Amino acid sequence: MKQDSKIIKEVEAIYRWLDEQLAEMDSSCRACGDCCDFEAFGHRLYITTPELIYFQHHIGPDIKTMTTGICPYRIDGKCAVYHRRFSGCRIFSCKGDTQKENALCEQAVSKFKSLCDEYDISYHYVYLKAGLEMLVENPEFKTQNL
Ligand code: SF4
Ligand code: SF4
Repeated sequence: MKQDSKIIKEVEAIYRWLDEQLAEMDSSCRACGDCCDFEAFGHRLYITTPELIYFQHHIGPDIKTMTTGICPYRIDGKCAVYHRRFSGCRIFSCKGDTQKENALCEQAVSKFKSLCDEYDISYHYVYLKAGLEMLVENPEFKTQNL
């Protein structure tokens, strides 16, 4: 199997693991999209390099830039990339247990970091706006990081 296919599968496995953990936490998110307006909600979303590679792999070269305090993938109040959304999007819940969420976030980040070590990928942990800009500026981001 090629290295990029392996990494995509590894990221998928981390997201699957995360979704299983979250199902047990029952955060009761109703997917209203309010927290995707970071400015209004006072919330920030950070993402890692393997997630950026995964995102570019699935979404393709036409990545949206973040020009306001709102995620550009929130369209008509809904996430337009729901099945490809980042770990922070999956973990955060306005009604959740912040301590448990922080612990889960640390575990997820550690898994993504280990993936970078294992596959010799530069590790970045950046705010969503900066991460999307990295992809917009470099349509070869995925290839260059593998
Ligand atoms: S990717 Fe989707 S869930 Fe995550 S912040 Fe953007 S709209 Fe919200
Ligand atoms: S976490 Fe809360 S604000 Fe965010 S989408 Fe779910 S219900 Fe809405």
